[in-house]
Amino acid sequence: MRALALFSGGLDSALAMKLIIDQNIEVIAVHIDMGFGGTNDKKEYLQNLCDQIGAKLEILDLRKEFLDEVLFTPVHGYGKNFNPCIDCHGFMFRYTSKLLEKYNANFMISGEVLGQRPMSQKKESLDIVQKLSGQEDLVLRPLSAKLLSPTKPELEGWVDREKLLDINGRNRQTQLRMARRIGLKGFDEPAGGCLLTMPDTSARIRDFIEHDKMDVDDIDIVKFGRHLRLPDGAKLVIGRNEADNLSLETVKSQKFYRAKIKDAIGPFNMLSQNASEADKALATKLIITYGKTEDEKIYTVDFGEFEMQGVKFQTKEVAAKYFILQSS
Ligand code: SF4
Repeated sequence: MRALALFSGGLDSALAMKLIIDQNIEVIAVHIDMGFGGTNDKKEYLQNLCDQIGAKLEILDLRKEFLDEVLFTPVHGYGKNFNPCIDCHGFMFRYTSKLLEKYNANFMISGEVLGQRPMSQKKESLDIVQKLSGQEDLVLRPLSAKLLSPTKPELEGWVDREKLLDINGRNRQTQLRMARRIGLKGFDEPAGGCLLTMPDTSARIRDFIEHDKMDVDDIDIVKFGRHLRLPDGAKLVIGRNEADNLSLETVKSQKFYRAKIKDAIGPFNMLSQNASEADKALATKLIITYGKTEDEKIYTVDFGEFEMQGVKFQTKEVAAKYFILQSS
């Protein structure tokens, strides 16, 4: 017997895999990258957990499919922010189910817990997700299985239902006890969802698609920096710190100029390629304002294809009215 697991990298999915591995079933942990899972490279982290649990790790890049099929057109709507959790879970199961044959696997599991999340883990939502998977009877949730209808793996005796759990709700004591018992180390505290559940990221995505089409290479830009929308419609992103600057430099999107102050220390910045002359001039002043610059001195900002000169605003408060979210 072999199972494919939806492996987010969280404690719950790790424990769900452990429950199945303990029944002498091989588990392949499928981690789906949809682009909004976090800003750090998680490969090492995921591998560490899989090694401890005894699962093989597979990482699938489905960022394009997620943008095309789910993010902007979720049939079951969004949660509090830009998180289409029900459709997202269904999407993950649907793509994982396509791998059943490739890996000669018999069923799928996830770390979903009944009642843990307000939108996606109510009983009705779990049922919807199961249907969306396209392989309804092959979806097993080991952590809450005893509270749900028996699935084919249980009915066929592939899995001993008695050894599965009946966890319900948001209290995570059972999971933490289990992690201690098996000696699992190095797992992240549950963060409550991906970046799509964050108000800042959600506001930036909303703003982005109001002005442009979001492609895979644009995903990373909504994760870093201060985001400003200038009067003629250009987007300006200004790095907040060294980590932001380094991350913005790796963004692949071709829709932006990359800009830095030439004659002073300052942040890394990105400006829409279709910026008007007025927006370019304003961006130049704003970029200089966020650099280590002196009042009334003229500086040059290098936008790659052109350069512009300007002086700083006397206060950063001028920038506030262009922030996409006040907290930026
Ligand atoms: S929190 Fe993010 S990754 Fe998790 S189900 Fe919701 S949208 Fe998908």
